[in-house]
Formats: sequence, structure tokens, C-alpha cells
Amino acid sequence: MLLKRLLEIFSANDQPKTKKGELSCKECNFIYDNTLDECPECKYMKILTDRSFDEMSDGLRLIRTIRGERAIKAAKDMGLKLLELKAEVSDEFKVKYKKLQHRKTGEIITIGDFRADGGSEWKTLVNWTSRNPSKFFSPYAAYVIPKDLKKGECVLINDVITNHVSGRWNQGDVYRLSKSEAIWTGRYFDIDVSSYAIGEFIG
Ligand SMILES: [Zn+2]
Repeated sequence: MLLKRLLEIFSANDQPKTKKGELSCKECNFIYDNTLDECPECKYMKILTDRSFDEMSDGLRLIRTIRGERAIKAAKDMGLKLLELKAEVSDEFKVKYKKLQHRKTGEIITIGDFRADGGSEWKTLVNWTSRNPSKFFSPYAAYVIPKDLKKGECVLINDVITNHVSGRWNQGDVYRLSKSEAIWTGRYFDIDVSSYAIGEFIG
């Protein structure tokens, strides 16, 4: 009886219950939104296992961002120096989109421009809706800080954790800055928004 009970407990752990629109990762069992290309927990673990922390880009040191509890715990176990920040969700950001499918070929496209809409050969799969680019799968995030990073050094961050507006479109979209140059102050990164912001545009 006990063995049967144990087996039940383990099999319950092995097969996490997914709701509609969710997937469970075959490698780590993490449950994630099926709109993501890959399991986010594993994606950030790969950054750690690649160990490419000395890369340069455009003459600047590239700072790695990791997200999710598992990657942050693993980074600490590896003895890496981290700057942990909370990934906040800001309602300020919205990027609109609509999903269409071609009636004959079955091709599925995503459009973001109101002016690209229309044409009877396209069927609406998802009508105009917005996604919030400040929404990540986990509130836990951290920059991996190179041990020899000097105060005042300018770096490149490909996945900015704090929220900054990159640009606005008069169709209503508000874009979030994801990539930016920044100065290491010795305690935090001073994000230079103007380095990669797209600004305001009309169309
Ligand atoms: Zn996974």
C-alpha cells in the first residue's frame, strides 16, 4: 500500500497539470505560456551553462541578464556576482497586434499596423489586442556582474530589467526599451535610454 501511495505521489509530481494555453517543459517540468518559443526557465539556464560572460559587442562589454528563480539560484551556486532586481509589470506599455490566416494557403501572419489590415483573402484568428512587453514569466531577474567591471565603465545590456519607454507610435503603441548602453556606477547600472530608444513616430 505504501509503495502504491509513493508511486502516486511521484507520478503526480512528474506530470504537472497544465491549463489551456500552457505547456509543461519536458526537461524541467516548468509550466509556461504556450505563446513562448521555449521554456523560459531552461532558456536562462542555458545562458549560465554557455558561460559566455566575457563577450564584447561594439567595443563594449556585454552584460548578461538571467530571469527566473532557478537560474538565479544556479548562478549563486556557481559563485557569480549578481545584481538582483525585481521585474515590475508596468501598464504604461502596450504593443498591439492582430493574427490573420490566409484562406487559401493557410499561412498565419501577425500584423502590428492598422494600415496593413484588410483584404477578404485573410481570416481573423486573433482580433486587435495588445500585449504588455514588461510582462515576463517571473518577477525574479538579475544582471551577471563581471568581477573586474570598473566603476564608470560603459556596457551593453541586451535584456534591460528596469522599465524605460523606448518610443511611442501615434497608433497607440508604447514600446519598452529592451537593449541599452549603461554605465556601471559600482552599485547599479545607469541606463542611457537615448542610446537605443526609437523615439516618437507617426504613421
Ligand atoms: Zn524547462
